[in-house]
Amino acid sequence: MTVYGTRPEAIKLAPVIKALEARQGLDLVTVVTGQHREMLDQVNAIFGIVPDHDLDVFSHGQGLNSLMARVLERLDPVLEKEAPDALLVQGDTSTVAAAAMAAFNRRIKVIHLEAGLRSGDILSPFPEEANRKVTTQVATLHLAPTSTSKNNLLRESLPESTIAVTGNTVIDALLEAVEQQVPFTDARLAGALESGGRILLVTSHRRENWDGAMERVGQAVRRLARTYPNVTVVLPAHRNPVVRAALLPPLADLTNVIVTEPLPYGEFTRVMAAATVILTDSGGVQEEAPSLGKPVLVMRENTERPEAVDAGTVRLIGTDESRIVSEVSNLLDDERAYREMANAVNPYGDGRAAERAVAAIESLLIGGERLPDFDA
Ligand code: UDP
Repeated sequence: MTVYGTRPEAIKLAPVIKALEARQGLDLVTVVTGQHREMLDQVNAIFGIVPDHDLDVFSHGQGLNSLMARVLERLDPVLEKEAPDALLVQGDTSTVAAAAMAAFNRRIKVIHLEAGLRSGDILSPFPEEANRKVTTQVATLHLAPTSTSKNNLLRESLPESTIAVTGNTVIDALLEAVEQQVPFTDARLAGALESGGRILLVTSHRRENWDGAMERVGQAVRRLARTYPNVTVVLPAHRNPVVRAALLPPLADLTNVIVTEPLPYGEFTRVMAAATVILTDSGGVQEEAPSLGKPVLVMRENTERPEAVDAGTVRLIGTDESRIVSEVSNLLDDERAYREMANAVNPYGDGRAAERAVAAIESLLIGGERLPDFDA
């Protein structure tokens, strides 16, 4: 059984769900919690996934405890009815931690995809760092995306035999999506890409940035849009109303800023591939953009994804308004600084992560060999 609730989980599980469905010998039950209702449905539709169960836990303005309580309460009867041999969860959301605990309490094996990411600060990202540590504690099989994440788990004294390094399945999803070249539903985006002008892509949603930081990001983007009238800013706005209220008001009257609804994955990957610079606080975007050779400025103080920082294509810049403006300006103005960051590197995967994950899952449940670890 697999359980997921948000857009990034759906994107990263989709290649594994497809690979599991194509295999003989394993039956898959798909459960969505609906933590991100609309954005989740959008991804399921793109990848052609029809969930077997929908726990429909989403309610407006709900807190983390009420969300986790609902997942526990509504997943339990499904676990009882389906009696799976194992539960597969991906990443670090509240859905993941709650579902992992629900399975553990029923002595069902937990398999954790994208295991071993650590920022080292339990409060950042919040609540994800805690969610992933809780999940590690109850998991039987840890599917680590990179050797760095495997080493984090070894440092926590997990037996090496329980860890497989698969690469990140987001690269599998990305490569498939980019190939599809889907048309844009928003004519403004089609126009921006056709014009061939420079594009600054911005996404921001992190909970630890809600307290003042999001307003600074909005002001910084406003200053950048006014300083560079020939650069088009594309900002797909997260559905969370707290994010929108903080980020969007300063951008309302600017003609070179395109604010959109969350973009379907295929369209978003096309914008990433066409962007000059990406300014984000997203985890998934930090992993995808380096494979497309795009410089990424990350509006956080730390990251659990150090590989692309080490490779030089991702820079941590925090959320100070002037720092955001100067870092983006530097890349737009200085060709050499730009070239130094705009190298295509693939520290997170080679597009075969789902294959490795499925081999490790089969090996746990029905026997057989794992594939060799992913080596960047
Ligand atoms: N994404 C998308 N449409 C958008 C913005 C992002 O499909 O409008 C994708 C993006 O390519 C990445 C994932 O959503 O794969 C990241 O999701 P998010 O930033 O919400 O979560 P995080 O990765 O920070 O957990």
